[in-house]
Amino acid sequence: MSDCLFCKIVAGDVPADKVYEDERVVVFKDINPKARVHLLVIPRIHLATLEDLKPEHDELIGHMIRLLPELAREQGLEQGFRTIINTGKGGGQIIFHLHIHLLGGPELRGF
Ligand code: 5GP
Ligand code: ZN
Repeated sequence: MSDCLFCKIVAGDVPADKVYEDERVVVFKDINPKARVHLLVIPRIHLATLEDLKPEHDELIGHMIRLLPELAREQGLEQGFRTIINTGKGGGQIIFHLHIHLLGGPELRGF
């Protein structure tokens, strides 16, 4: 998707503060952090939302989910963390390239 911001970050055409990447995912700091730690975990392939997931993506999604506690530990979030996936306009999604928000820090409160 040539007009997708996060695809451009994956391609290196738009700069981002990357903290991790492998053959399937890229992880970078949110440009407008809502907590001390606010990372975005995205697949390298373009998937717009959770609605686009097919069985063939199960391994990718499993990989992304299992990465979360590892990333949280690396960021010093020993007490836990929050994950959010906004889906569609009604869910507050602004960037239509699937991403998991990973948030943590002393300022987080429960819902
Ligand atoms: P959404 O509401 O789609 O779940 O969240 C999109 C997130 O992407 C927002 O938290 C926003 O701050 C972040 N974001 C938007 N544009 C950029 C950008 O150019 N670089 C980075 N690192 N984050 C961005
Ligand atoms: Zn994309």
